[in-house]
Amino acid sequence: MEEKGLLLIVSGFSGAGKGTIVKEFISRNNDVRLSVSATTREKRQGEQEGVHYYYISKDQFENMIDRGDMFEYASYVNNYYGTPKSFVMKQLEEGHDVILEIEMQGALQVKRMYDEAILIFVVPPHAKDLEDRLFGRGTETAEVIKNRLRRSCEEVDLIKYYDYIIVNDQLSDSVRMLENIRNAEHLKVKHYENLIDKLKGELQGIIN
Ligand code: ADP
Ligand code: 5GP
Repeated sequence: MEEKGLLLIVSGFSGAGKGTIVKEFISRNNDVRLSVSATTREKRQGEQEGVHYYYISKDQFENMIDRGDMFEYASYVNNYYGTPKSFVMKQLEEGHDVILEIEMQGALQVKRMYDEAILIFVVPPHAKDLEDRLFGRGTETAEVIKNRLRRSCEEVDLIKYYDYIIVNDQLSDSVRMLENIRNAEHLKVKHYENLIDKLKGELQGIIN
């Protein structure tokens, strides 16, 4: 049977650069499947339905929760965000690596039910970078930015439950770090049980 794919989960403070890192990572590693989330937040300028998110109403979102169609979900700064279950399960079963870019509550929900998930947290070198990057992105009002920074402050104490951290200083270095994490995870002994068994058989054949 084909081995299941890796589930990579990228979270990080708002404005840390996780969306930018994941986008670049996917463009360089197009065998990795990116899960498209559902959200109740407004579409930003330049975003596309089904590419950045599925934009749905609060009622539609709650119906998906009730039907058990969400792999995980969370409320983040007055909106719902969630990962549709069917895509992720199918891709993992088929042996593809899947990446989710989701906030912390959702990531920790996944880790509790699926311990193999690999949790990666993105931070900037300095807190001030968050404010600068969010204002620089220009997609949120000053009030929403303040709420997102407040949320980041609450998230700090939970970073210890993550497996890896990426300090996003130079974008290209950060993308390489994400690739390194993926590569190292693929080299874990647990993924090589069949090869180890085969080598054992071959060795026994040689010595007998
Ligand atoms: P997030 O998804 O974590 O909220 P984004 O990926 O949208 O953050 O990045 C926030 C802003 O910071 C964007 O305008 C992006 O171009 C910029 N940015 C991302 N990475 C870096 C970096 N390493 N150095 C400087 N600016 C960055
Ligand atoms: P944004 O509004 O900036 O696109 O996203 C806000 C936050 O929601 C980010 O931290 C992003 O990672 C997170 N997010 C996006 N999709 C999901 C999802 O499906 N589930 C959860 N739990 N968080 C998500």
